[in-house]
Amino acid sequence: MFETVIGLEVHTQLNTDSKLFCSCATSFNAEQNSNTCPTCLALPGALPVLNKEVLHKSIMLGTAIDARINKTSYFDRKSYFYPDSPSAYQITQLYTPVVEHGTLQIDFKDGKHKIIRINRAHIEADAGKNIHDGSVSKVDLNRAGTPLLEIVSEPDMSSSEEAILYLKKLHSIVRYLDISDANMQEGSFRCDVNVSIRPKGDKKLYTRVEIKNINSFRFIEQAIALEVERQTIAWEDGVYDEEILQETRLFDQDKQETRSMRGKEGAADYRYFPEPDLRPAKIDDAMLEKFSKIPELPDKKRERFISEYKLNEYNAGVITSSLEMAHFFEEMIKEGGTPKTATTWLTGELQSRLKGGLTLITSPVSAKTMGELVNRIDDQTISGKAAKEVLDYLMENDLGVDTIIEKLGLKQVTDMGAIEKMCDEIIAANEDKAEQFRAGKDKLFGFFVGQVMKASKGSANPQAVNEVLKAKLA
Ligand code: ADP
Ligand code: MG
Ligand code: ZN
Repeated sequence: MFETVIGLEVHTQLNTDSKLFCSCATSFNAEQNSNTCPTCLALPGALPVLNKEVLHKSIMLGTAIDARINKTSYFDRKSYFYPDSPSAYQITQLYTPVVEHGTLQIDFKDGKHKIIRINRAHIEADAGKNIHDGSVSKVDLNRAGTPLLEIVSEPDMSSSEEAILYLKKLHSIVRYLDISDANMQEGSFRCDVNVSIRPKGDKKLYTRVEIKNINSFRFIEQAIALEVERQTIAWEDGVYDEEILQETRLFDQDKQETRSMRGKEGAADYRYFPEPDLRPAKIDDAMLEKFSKIPELPDKKRERFISEYKLNEYNAGVITSSLEMAHFFEEMIKEGGTPKTATTWLTGELQSRLKGGLTLITSPVSAKTMGELVNRIDDQTISGKAAKEVLDYLMENDLGVDTIIEKLGLKQVTDMGAIEKMCDEIIAANEDKAEQFRAGKDKLFGFFVGQVMKASKGSANPQAVNEVLKAKLA
């Protein structure tokens, strides 16, 4: 039997206003090659100057993952030639990165946890983009020189489930800290997956294969499964040494295969050497103190939601997995509704109605309005069923909750006199069934509840109906 060994490298694009070593804007959706200057175009003689904001954000990340933050870190030159990198090298941090030796906790569904070690997080410059357009290829350098923080895990994950939990946790931390947009589709949170296998119990690390730039959690899961299968078959067929090489592979989602892209370069191939154009990056005490004050992170927030709002572990995890949802929830609660009802209506009813690219941020129904709706359910003004109608209406119309309840005539009848009258009428119209019920046919109770609810067009308070019927049929 084999076990899977996975290590992840995540490139997260820092959301600074300007680039890493020049003052060009980082919004690379601008007109092609418009956000460029002699430095990021690598014109001879132009010198890089470090953007301090990048250090600030590195300190925040380092604090969040309990890492060592190096007060002096160094830049190195990694040589490679590719058209989207006009300097023919990348400035990165090989020997002494800004952040080292962190940890990140992942949480399983059954309540268990595991600590994944993070080897390092280092600062580096992004490349531009090659755009292949028919028979020609173009280069857009708007992205060249954008700051990246590459976060490198130890090979501590042993399944795709663990890898995805790690990525989702890291993603949510980065978003909580607001140091990156971390948009996977747009490439501001990119992941390289390193995979190997080994006989269960073996502590040795075997040949790793690196799968580059997979841009969704689902594809990462598929790529790992395919690669593990390929390596396992090779091992079992006795051709592991010939077929499993340290190389970079590409995941093809259509063909559902990974295939060789290039042999994996060793560090020597890159001719790393200390970057001569930059001084060491210095972090002083004042800077460290200021930026290590970070906001409440997902784990802490989850614990607080459990103790403060009495949510169960699962719901607290779902709601705090994104900062947007946690905010939304707390805004809802401010309106006075119970956390329990708010949870159901946020994670269930509202989420299922957010389609076609709508998110909590662009939701047509605000947190305040959702809070009001929850309030009206909790104080029994409307039934849960009626509330669904109100929410459907709110998705299309920007009106107040009470106005809609009024307009759609959904107010729940809690007037006991009215409910008693309805119950009397239903019992009178079904004397035979009432007799059978009294004679012991308990199942008929549901029939009476159903009839009264129907007569009230769903507006009667079901709890009150139950009580009244119980008394009258006794
Ligand atoms: P490179 O930039 O050459 O890919 P890094 O040191 O930046 O090298 O990243 C190596 C990644 O591969 C790390 O995430 C590490 O945990 C992982 N890794 C190393 N050895 C193995 C292995 N045998 N199986 C799986 N992952 C591995
Ligand atoms: Mg790598
Ligand atoms: Zn520039």
